[in-house]
Amino acid sequence: MNLVLKIKEIVAAIEEFAPVALQESWDNSGLLVGDRETEINSAVITIDVTEAVVDDAISHGDGLIISHHPPIFSGLKRINGSNETERILIKAIRNNIAIFSAHTNIDVVRNGVSWRMAKKLDLQNLETLVPQQGLLKKLVVFVPVSYSDAVRNALFEAGAGHIGNYDSCSFSLKGNGSFRGDETTNPFVGDPENLHFEDEIRIETIFPSYLQPSIIRKMIDVHPYEEVAYDIYPLENIHQQVGLGVVGNLSEEIPTIEFLQKLKTTFHCDAIRHTSVIKEKVSKVALVGGAGSSFLKNAIHCNADVFVTGDFKYHQFFDAENKILIADIGHYESEQFTKELFYEIVTNKFSKFALRLSKVQTNPVKYLF
Ligand SMILES: [Zn+2]
Repeated sequence: MNLVLKIKEIVAAIEEFAPVALQESWDNSGLLVGDRETEINSAVITIDVTEAVVDDAISHGDGLIISHHPPIFSGLKRINGSNETERILIKAIRNNIAIFSAHTNIDVVRNGVSWRMAKKLDLQNLETLVPQQGLLKKLVVFVPVSYSDAVRNALFEAGAGHIGNYDSCSFSLKGNGSFRGDETTNPFVGDPENLHFEDEIRIETIFPSYLQPSIIRKMIDVHPYEEVAYDIYPLENIHQQVGLGVVGNLSEEIPTIEFLQKLKTTFHCDAIRHTSVIKEKVSKVALVGGAGSSFLKNAIHCNADVFVTGDFKYHQFFDAENKILIADIGHYESEQFTKELFYEIVTNKFSKFALRLSKVQTNPVKYLF
Protein backbone atom coordinates (compact mmCIF):
# COMPACT_ATOMS: atom_id res chain seq x y z
CA MET A 1 0.00 0.00 0.00
CA ASN A 2 1.46 3.30 -1.06
CA LEU A 3 1.73 6.15 1.37
CA VAL A 4 -0.76 9.01 1.03
CA LEU A 5 0.81 12.41 1.72
CA LYS A 6 -0.41 15.96 1.90
CA ILE A 7 1.30 18.19 -0.63
CA LYS A 8 2.59 20.36 2.21
CA GLU A 9 4.53 17.40 3.65
CA ILE A 10 6.50 17.01 0.42
CA VAL A 11 6.99 20.76 0.13
CA ALA A 12 8.29 20.86 3.72
CA ALA A 13 10.75 18.00 3.09
CA ILE A 14 12.25 19.77 0.05
CA GLU A 15 12.26 23.21 1.64
CA GLU A 16 13.96 21.85 4.74
CA PHE A 17 16.83 20.89 2.42
CA ALA A 18 16.57 24.05 0.28
CA PRO A 19 14.85 26.88 2.21
CA VAL A 20 12.75 28.95 -0.17
CA ALA A 21 14.07 32.10 1.53
CA LEU A 22 17.39 31.42 -0.22
CA GLN A 23 16.00 31.88 -3.72
CA GLU A 24 17.09 34.86 -5.84
CA SER A 25 14.84 37.93 -5.75
CA TRP A 26 13.80 37.39 -9.40
CA ASP A 27 12.98 33.73 -8.89
CA ASN A 28 9.57 32.13 -8.29
CA SER A 29 10.20 28.89 -6.41
CA GLY A 30 7.57 27.30 -4.19
CA LEU A 31 4.11 25.77 -4.60
CA LEU A 32 2.86 27.45 -7.80
CA VAL A 33 -0.34 25.50 -8.44
CA GLY A 34 -2.51 23.56 -6.01
CA ASP A 35 -3.67 23.42 -2.43
CA ARG A 36 -1.06 22.41 0.14
CA GLU A 37 -3.64 20.46 2.17
CA THR A 38 -4.55 18.15 -0.74
CA GLU A 39 -3.72 14.48 -0.22
CA ILE A 40 -1.93 12.73 -3.07
CA ASN A 41 -0.96 9.14 -3.89
CA SER A 42 1.98 9.83 -6.20
CA ALA A 43 4.19 12.53 -7.67
CA VAL A 44 6.54 12.94 -10.62
CA ILE A 45 9.87 14.78 -10.94
CA THR A 46 11.07 16.80 -13.93
CA ILE A 47 13.54 19.58 -14.74
CA ASP A 48 11.00 21.56 -16.81
CA VAL A 49 7.22 21.51 -16.84
CA THR A 50 6.02 21.07 -20.42
CA GLU A 51 2.59 20.04 -21.71
CA ALA A 52 4.01 16.57 -22.31
CA VAL A 53 5.05 16.36 -18.64
CA VAL A 54 1.52 17.31 -17.53
CA ASP A 55 0.10 14.65 -19.88
CA ASP A 56 2.53 12.14 -18.39
CA ALA A 57 1.35 13.07 -14.87
CA ILE A 58 -2.30 12.69 -15.94
CA SER A 59 -1.70 9.25 -17.43
CA HIS A 60 -0.01 8.06 -14.22
CA GLY A 61 -2.59 9.67 -11.90
CA ASP A 62 0.02 11.85 -10.18
CA GLY A 63 -1.23 14.64 -7.90
CA LEU A 64 1.98 16.66 -7.96
CA ILE A 65 4.71 17.67 -10.40
CA ILE A 66 8.03 18.58 -8.76
CA SER A 67 10.18 20.67 -11.11
CA HIS A 68 13.50 22.49 -10.98
CA HIS A 69 12.50 25.32 -13.32
CA PRO A 70 9.31 27.15 -12.27
CA PRO A 71 6.80 27.25 -15.16
CA ILE A 72 5.58 30.68 -13.97
CA PHE A 73 8.13 33.47 -13.61
CA SER A 74 6.30 36.74 -14.03
CA GLY A 75 2.70 37.81 -13.43
CA LEU A 76 0.00 36.41 -15.72
CA LYS A 77 -2.83 38.76 -16.71
CA ARG A 78 -4.99 36.13 -18.36
CA ILE A 79 -5.02 32.36 -18.61
CA ASN A 80 -6.80 31.50 -21.84
CA GLY A 81 -4.45 28.92 -23.33
CA SER A 82 -2.76 31.19 -25.89
CA ASN A 83 0.74 29.98 -24.97
CA GLU A 84 2.28 26.85 -23.50
CA THR A 85 2.53 28.22 -19.94
CA GLU A 86 -1.19 29.01 -19.92
CA ARG A 87 -2.08 25.62 -21.42
CA ILE A 88 0.06 23.89 -18.78
CA LEU A 89 -1.69 25.74 -15.98
CA ILE A 90 -5.20 25.09 -17.34
CA LYS A 91 -4.47 21.40 -17.85
CA ALA A 92 -2.84 20.98 -14.44
CA ILE A 93 -5.68 22.70 -12.59
CA ARG A 94 -8.40 20.83 -14.53
CA ASN A 95 -6.74 17.54 -13.67
CA ASN A 96 -6.08 18.36 -10.02
CA ILE A 97 -2.31 18.33 -10.46
CA ALA A 98 -0.26 20.62 -8.25
CA ILE A 99 3.08 22.09 -9.37
CA PHE A 100 5.96 22.74 -6.99
CA SER A 101 9.34 24.14 -8.05
CA ALA A 102 12.67 24.50 -6.24
CA HIS A 103 15.00 26.52 -8.44
CA THR A 104 17.68 28.94 -7.20
CA ASN A 105 17.14 27.79 -3.60
CA ILE A 106 18.31 24.27 -4.48
CA ASP A 107 21.12 25.80 -6.58
CA VAL A 108 22.71 27.52 -3.59
CA VAL A 109 22.50 24.97 -0.80
CA ARG A 110 25.24 22.57 0.20
CA ASN A 111 24.66 19.24 -1.59
CA GLY A 112 22.42 21.03 -4.09
CA VAL A 113 22.57 21.12 -7.91
CA SER A 114 26.30 21.80 -8.42
CA TRP A 115 27.31 19.47 -5.58
CA ARG A 116 25.43 16.69 -7.34
CA MET A 117 27.37 17.44 -10.55
CA ALA A 118 30.62 17.24 -8.56
CA LYS A 119 29.57 13.91 -7.07
CA LYS A 120 28.98 12.51 -10.57
CA LEU A 121 32.58 13.47 -11.45
CA ASP A 122 33.95 12.10 -8.15
CA LEU A 123 35.45 15.45 -7.20
CA GLN A 124 37.12 15.65 -3.78
CA ASN A 125 37.60 18.42 -1.19
CA LEU A 126 34.50 20.30 -2.31
CA GLU A 127 33.99 23.95 -1.45
CA THR A 128 31.36 26.48 -2.45
CA LEU A 129 32.59 28.46 -5.48
CA VAL A 130 30.73 31.73 -4.71
CA PRO A 131 29.88 31.71 -0.99
CA GLN A 132 27.14 34.18 -0.09
CA GLN A 133 27.92 37.25 1.94
CA GLY A 134 25.48 39.14 4.18
CA LEU A 135 23.43 36.08 5.06
CA LEU A 136 24.82 35.50 8.55
CA LYS A 137 23.87 37.37 11.70
CA LYS A 138 25.12 37.23 15.26
CA LEU A 139 22.78 36.91 18.23
CA VAL A 140 23.82 37.92 21.74
CA VAL A 141 21.45 37.18 24.61
CA PHE A 142 21.78 37.68 28.37
CA VAL A 143 20.41 34.79 30.45
CA PRO A 144 20.33 34.05 34.21
CA VAL A 145 22.88 31.31 34.97
CA SER A 146 20.29 28.64 35.80
CA TYR A 147 18.62 29.03 32.40
CA SER A 148 21.70 29.31 30.21
CA ASP A 149 21.70 25.64 29.10
CA ALA A 150 18.00 25.69 28.26
CA VAL A 151 18.26 28.89 26.19
CA ARG A 152 21.44 27.74 24.44
CA ASN A 153 19.84 24.41 23.52
CA ALA A 154 16.69 26.14 22.25
CA LEU A 155 18.83 28.33 19.99
CA PHE A 156 20.65 25.28 18.59
CA GLU A 157 17.37 23.42 18.04
CA ALA A 158 16.03 26.40 16.11
CA GLY A 159 19.04 26.25 13.75
CA ALA A 160 21.54 28.68 15.27
CA GLY A 161 25.21 27.82 15.79
CA HIS A 162 26.14 26.09 12.53
CA ILE A 163 29.67 26.79 11.25
CA GLY A 164 30.95 24.60 8.39
CA ASN A 165 30.52 20.98 9.41
CA TYR A 166 30.06 21.91 13.07
CA ASP A 167 26.82 22.50 14.90
CA SER A 168 26.10 23.75 18.46
CA CYS A 169 28.68 26.57 18.13
CA SER A 170 28.41 29.33 20.73
CA PHE A 171 30.46 31.38 23.15
CA SER A 172 29.42 32.06 26.77
CA LEU A 173 30.76 34.60 29.22
CA LYS A 174 29.72 35.19 32.83
CA GLY A 175 28.84 38.69 33.96
CA ASN A 176 26.54 40.77 36.07
CA GLY A 177 23.29 42.18 34.74
CA SER A 178 21.19 44.87 36.36
CA PHE A 179 17.53 45.88 36.06
CA ARG A 180 14.71 47.67 37.85
CA GLY A 181 11.07 47.20 36.87
CA ASP A 182 8.28 49.69 37.55
CA GLU A 183 5.23 48.94 39.69
CA THR A 184 3.49 47.06 36.85
CA THR A 185 6.24 44.45 36.48
CA ASN A 186 6.53 40.93 37.77
CA PRO A 187 10.24 40.18 37.53
CA PHE A 188 11.55 36.59 37.45
CA VAL A 189 14.00 37.56 40.26
CA GLY A 190 14.09 40.63 42.51
CA ASP A 191 11.23 42.98 43.39
CA PRO A 192 9.47 45.63 41.34
CA GLU A 193 10.89 49.16 41.79
CA ASN A 194 14.12 47.82 43.37
CA LEU A 195 17.41 47.85 41.51
CA HIS A 196 18.51 44.23 41.12
CA PHE A 197 21.83 42.66 40.16
CA GLU A 198 21.84 39.13 38.75
CA ASP A 199 24.58 36.73 37.67
CA GLU A 200 23.98 36.24 33.97
CA ILE A 201 25.58 34.45 31.05
CA ARG A 202 26.14 36.30 27.78
CA ILE A 203 25.55 33.72 25.03
CA GLU A 204 26.75 34.49 21.50
CA THR A 205 25.95 32.46 18.41
CA ILE A 206 25.36 32.93 14.68
CA PHE A 207 22.46 32.09 12.40
CA PRO A 208 21.36 32.56 8.78
CA SER A 209 19.09 35.61 8.61
CA TYR A 210 16.10 33.75 7.19
CA LEU A 211 15.80 31.81 10.47
CA GLN A 212 15.59 34.99 12.59
CA PRO A 213 11.82 34.97 13.36
CA SER A 214 11.75 31.32 14.55
CA ILE A 215 15.02 31.60 16.49
CA ILE A 216 13.88 34.72 18.36
CA ARG A 217 10.49 33.17 19.08
CA LYS A 218 12.05 29.99 20.54
CA MET A 219 14.57 32.00 22.57
CA ILE A 220 11.84 34.16 24.11
CA ASP A 221 9.68 31.07 24.82
CA VAL A 222 12.43 29.47 26.91
CA HIS A 223 13.92 32.61 28.48
CA PRO A 224 12.49 33.31 31.97
CA TYR A 225 12.57 37.14 31.84
CA GLU A 226 9.54 39.31 31.02
CA GLU A 227 11.76 41.48 28.84
CA VAL A 228 14.54 39.55 27.16
CA ALA A 229 17.71 41.57 26.53
CA TYR A 230 19.27 40.52 23.22
CA ASP A 231 21.20 42.07 20.32
CA ILE A 232 21.29 41.11 16.67
CA TYR A 233 24.32 42.11 14.57
CA PRO A 234 24.59 41.83 10.79
CA LEU A 235 27.89 40.12 9.83
CA GLU A 236 30.20 40.67 6.87
CA ASN A 237 31.34 37.03 7.04
CA ILE A 238 30.68 34.79 4.08
CA HIS A 239 28.46 31.73 4.52
CA GLN A 240 30.54 28.76 3.32
CA GLN A 241 27.51 26.49 3.23
CA VAL A 242 25.39 28.67 0.97
CA GLY A 243 26.29 29.94 -2.48
CA LEU A 244 26.48 29.04 -6.14
CA GLY A 245 28.77 26.47 -7.66
CA VAL A 246 31.38 24.11 -6.35
CA VAL A 247 35.13 23.75 -6.73
CA GLY A 248 37.00 20.51 -6.09
CA ASN A 249 39.76 18.21 -7.27
CA LEU A 250 39.78 15.08 -9.34
CA SER A 251 41.26 12.18 -7.36
CA GLU A 252 44.24 12.42 -9.72
CA GLU A 253 45.05 14.75 -12.59
CA ILE A 254 44.06 13.43 -15.99
CA PRO A 255 44.74 14.54 -19.58
CA THR A 256 42.43 17.41 -20.54
CA ILE A 257 40.95 15.58 -23.51
CA GLU A 258 40.21 12.58 -21.30
CA PHE A 259 38.43 14.90 -18.87
CA LEU A 260 36.30 16.38 -21.67
CA GLN A 261 35.39 12.85 -22.74
CA LYS A 262 34.49 12.02 -19.15
CA LEU A 263 32.23 15.09 -19.04
CA LYS A 264 30.58 14.06 -22.29
CA THR A 265 29.84 10.56 -21.03
CA THR A 266 28.83 11.50 -17.49
CA PHE A 267 26.44 14.26 -18.55
CA HIS A 268 25.18 12.45 -21.68
CA CYS A 269 26.18 15.40 -23.88
CA ASP A 270 25.78 15.24 -27.64
CA ALA A 271 28.48 17.92 -27.83
CA ILE A 272 30.58 20.11 -25.56
CA ARG A 273 31.53 23.65 -26.57
CA HIS A 274 34.93 24.49 -25.10
CA THR A 275 37.84 26.91 -25.39
CA SER A 276 41.37 25.97 -26.50
CA VAL A 277 43.10 23.28 -24.52
CA ILE A 278 45.85 25.23 -22.76
CA LYS A 279 47.06 22.68 -20.23
CA GLU A 280 47.82 19.07 -20.96
CA LYS A 281 46.23 17.91 -17.73
CA VAL A 282 43.47 19.06 -15.38
CA SER A 283 42.94 18.42 -11.69
CA LYS A 284 41.00 21.36 -10.22
CA VAL A 285 37.44 21.71 -11.49
CA ALA A 286 34.89 24.48 -10.90
CA LEU A 287 31.23 23.78 -11.68
CA VAL A 288 28.00 25.75 -11.79
CA GLY A 289 24.73 24.05 -12.74
CA GLY A 290 22.63 25.91 -15.31
CA ALA A 291 23.63 29.30 -16.70
CA GLY A 292 26.91 29.98 -14.88
CA SER A 293 28.92 32.11 -17.30
CA SER A 294 28.93 35.14 -14.99
CA PHE A 295 30.95 33.15 -12.44
CA LEU A 296 33.91 32.55 -14.76
CA LYS A 297 36.00 35.07 -12.81
CA ASN A 298 35.35 33.14 -9.57
CA ALA A 299 36.56 29.95 -11.24
CA ILE A 300 39.71 31.72 -12.48
CA HIS A 301 40.24 33.31 -9.06
CA CYS A 302 40.32 29.93 -7.31
CA ASN A 303 42.83 28.59 -9.86
CA ALA A 304 40.54 25.98 -11.34
CA ASP A 305 41.93 24.33 -14.49
CA VAL A 306 38.48 24.01 -16.00
CA PHE A 307 35.08 25.67 -15.57
CA VAL A 308 32.07 23.49 -16.34
CA THR A 309 28.64 25.09 -16.79
CA GLY A 310 26.01 25.90 -19.43
CA ASP A 311 24.78 28.82 -21.55
CA PHE A 312 28.08 30.51 -22.47
CA LYS A 313 27.69 33.14 -25.21
CA TYR A 314 30.21 33.56 -28.05
CA HIS A 315 31.93 36.67 -26.67
CA GLN A 316 32.12 35.23 -23.16
CA PHE A 317 34.38 32.43 -24.40
CA PHE A 318 37.07 35.09 -25.02
CA ASP A 319 37.10 35.87 -21.29
CA ALA A 320 38.91 32.59 -20.59
CA GLU A 321 42.06 34.47 -21.74
CA ASN A 322 44.12 31.27 -21.69
CA LYS A 323 43.80 31.14 -17.91
CA ILE A 324 41.19 28.41 -17.77
CA LEU A 325 39.40 25.92 -19.99
CA ILE A 326 35.68 26.69 -20.37
CA ALA A 327 33.53 23.60 -20.97
CA ASP A 328 29.91 24.43 -21.81
CA ILE A 329 28.09 21.13 -21.44
CA GLY A 330 24.58 22.60 -21.89
CA HIS A 331 22.06 24.01 -19.42
CA TYR A 332 19.81 20.97 -19.25
CA GLU A 333 22.73 18.53 -19.26
CA SER A 334 24.32 20.26 -16.28
CA GLU A 335 21.11 20.20 -14.20
CA GLN A 336 19.68 16.81 -15.18
CA PHE A 337 20.75 15.07 -11.96
CA THR A 338 18.66 17.50 -9.90
CA LYS A 339 15.84 15.00 -10.57
CA GLU A 340 17.78 12.39 -8.55
CA LEU A 341 18.32 14.96 -5.85
CA PHE A 342 14.58 15.61 -5.46
CA TYR A 343 13.96 11.88 -5.46
CA GLU A 344 16.45 11.25 -2.66
CA ILE A 345 15.23 14.16 -0.51
CA VAL A 346 11.61 12.98 -0.61
CA THR A 347 12.20 9.22 -0.39
CA ASN A 348 14.69 9.62 2.48
CA LYS A 349 11.79 11.01 4.47
CA PHE A 350 8.89 9.07 2.96
CA SER A 351 10.29 5.79 1.65
CA LYS A 352 6.83 4.32 0.92
CA PHE A 353 5.64 7.24 -1.20
CA ALA A 354 5.14 6.55 -4.93
CA LEU A 355 7.57 8.96 -6.55
CA ARG A 356 9.09 8.65 -10.00
CA LEU A 357 11.34 10.51 -12.42
CA SER A 358 9.47 11.58 -15.55
CA LYS A 359 10.78 9.90 -18.69
CA VAL A 360 9.63 12.87 -20.78
CA GLN A 361 12.68 14.51 -22.37
CA THR A 362 12.29 18.26 -21.76
CA ASN A 363 15.62 19.59 -23.07
CA PRO A 364 14.57 21.98 -25.88
CA VAL A 365 18.09 22.07 -27.41
CA LYS A 366 18.88 19.44 -30.08
CA TYR A 367 22.11 18.82 -32.01
CA LEU A 368 22.54 17.77 -35.63
CA PHE A 369 25.59 15.58 -36.21
ZN1 LIG B 1 18.41 25.93 -14.92
